[in-house]
Amino acid sequence: MSPETQQTDQTNRPREEKTPRKAGRFAPSPSGDMHIGNLRTATLAWIWAKQSNRDFVVRVEDIDRVKKGAAQRQLEDLTTLGLTWDGDALYQSSRRDAHLQAIETLKEKGLLFECYCSRKEIAEASSAPHARPGFYPRTCAELTESQRETKRAELAATNRAPALRLRPRVTEWTIQDELFGTVTERIDQVVLQRGDGILAYNLAVVVDDAWQNVDQIVRADDLLSSAPAQAYIAHELGYSPFTYAHVPLVLSTTGARLAKRDGAVTLRELLSHGWSVTRVIEEIAASLGFTAHTLEELCEVFDATQMNRESWTFIPPEA
Ligand code: GLU
Repeated sequence: MSPETQQTDQTNRPREEKTPRKAGRFAPSPSGDMHIGNLRTATLAWIWAKQSNRDFVVRVEDIDRVKKGAAQRQLEDLTTLGLTWDGDALYQSSRRDAHLQAIETLKEKGLLFECYCSRKEIAEASSAPHARPGFYPRTCAELTESQRETKRAELAATNRAPALRLRPRVTEWTIQDELFGTVTERIDQVVLQRGDGILAYNLAVVVDDAWQNVDQIVRADDLLSSAPAQAYIAHELGYSPFTYAHVPLVLSTTGARLAKRDGAVTLRELLSHGWSVTRVIEEIAASLGFTAHTLEELCEVFDATQMNRESWTFIPPEA
């Protein structure tokens, strides 16, 4: 930069310019009412953000399966508990242009390839002797242009379009997690845009976290294994690294991830069983190993290094 440009830059800069505050976030998929497991994760994300002087933002991840009316009800559930957020909730479906722009960026960097496989073909190839279970069997990764032409035409004949998969330049990527420490995972050739045009969660989550100024991701630990791929995608898109804390899931008495079918587990059901909002917060606090009656109290006493790291088995009140 020439001294002259520097001078201009400095004089043009508004005096009061502040870098926007970084944020923590909660990003529910609108699939139904919030249950106590979702709320416990949201509470932790809220506390983590507050304790570290961050904003707390909410994003409705509504680009795939959406239950009508669920987003609004989920936001009401958060408000009922007292989990307030900064700014407006972001609806991910409004961000399609930005997601497509990220796809373009990755394409220009040579980090995407077309995949013509059906689910069935992937399942068959994955059961071959040398396949790596759970990983894309690389079927379409190294096709020649003429092979691609043929496959494209075959798909078009059945009214389908190719998906776009990530062609990572690395075999693995490492993240730092406040609870799990250093976590390294192999990076799969994950789908970033589906054949039906829908952008994949792994892309949208990264683009939108960066857009919302999020640099702290607190969420349930069933997403831990996808964090390195997301961090790698963020790196390729030129975003600063996120910090992570993957928190234990709430389980049902069967040992599975808590779900609506497990009885009275949603906030609305618990309240209609006579629980108060205070009781819900007390139970969440106790499950984490703390005594608190309000979110503010919990925020005062919460210490991530002392929190109970066991999954919480939730026993719903009897009907
Ligand atoms: N929308 C995802 C879910 O509800 C969470 C995404 C995230 O926290 O990264 O499971």
